Amino acid sequence: MLTSLQGKSVLVTGGTSGIGLGIAVGFARQGAKVAISGRQRDKVEAVASRLRDQGLAVTGLVADVAQREQVRQLVEQVVQAQGGLDVLCANAGVFPSAPLEQMTDADWDLVLDTNAKGTFLCVQAALPHLRRAAYGRVVLTSSITGPVTGFPGWAHYGASKAAQLGFMRTAAIELARDGITINAVLPGNILTEGLQGMGEAYQASMAASIPLKCLGKVEDIANAALFFASKEAGYITGQSLIVDGGQILPESLQALA
Ligand code: NAP
Repeated sequence: MLTSLQGKSVLVTGGTSGIGLGIAVGFARQGAKVAISGRQRDKVEAVASRLRDQGLAVTGLVADVAQREQVRQLVEQVVQAQGGLDVLCANAGVFPSAPLEQMTDADWDLVLDTNAKGTFLCVQAALPHLRRAAYGRVVLTSSITGPVTGFPGWAHYGASKAAQLGFMRTAAIELARDGITINAVLPGNILTEGLQGMGEAYQASMAASIPLKCLGKVEDIANAALFFASKEAGYITGQSLIVDGGQILPESLQALA
């Protein structure tokens, strides 16, 4: 049993859908005060209002994580609304597909700016407040794609997700001086709205390549984030945890036969 996160102030970037929403709900169900952010105001307000209707303490805020000034304002608003910041979940990310030969500078910049630079900007803006909180947890949502595996069309995405881990290892040393930890969850294939829309046949073919024979749930990622944010994980920093049902393990299709 982990110590309760009741009353902790949490920011989940990209908390309006998919994995981020799952993480936000996970923290809110533990009694934490949770701010969720995204770029689309309508979506931010609708999701935050739906969660409040369920009795969860959730605030919706609009910000593009790739824009320094918007990130600064986002963190200030969280601190104002929730009386500080204890936990940052830097989760916002994009994954548009582009084959390497056709990949444009704009394709590359969008993915690296959102996923890698966005992580840097959010951690940097949160740092003084995490230090003040005397708790201080950062949880990154990376991926198996890039750090461990590859997938055609995602060279830029893989680079951005590996960049998060390179950033994390040095940040971990610098943040440790203030007792702040930073760790990363590496999801495999998680059943989000986007994947649900691709149909059951597609989902079944993906599940067949996973030793545990099913796609992950957003709750599986939320549970890992909750652990890294817990008091009990306070001696763990600069580490990554793969949550993928064993997806990276088979050497060949023969291994799954
Ligand atoms: P999703 O459902 O598309 O949600 C992405 C979230 O990020 C939304 O809230 C979106 O809101 C926000 N967002 C995107 N760009 C942003 C920006 N520039 N500034 C602020 N917010 C932004 O995606 P997901 O599948 O849950 O993925 C979430 C994270 O998990 C990503 O980092 C992704 O790389 C990682 N991941 C996902 C999987 C998977 O199977 N789904 C696997 C491995 C890793 P707006 O559009 O309103 O901005």
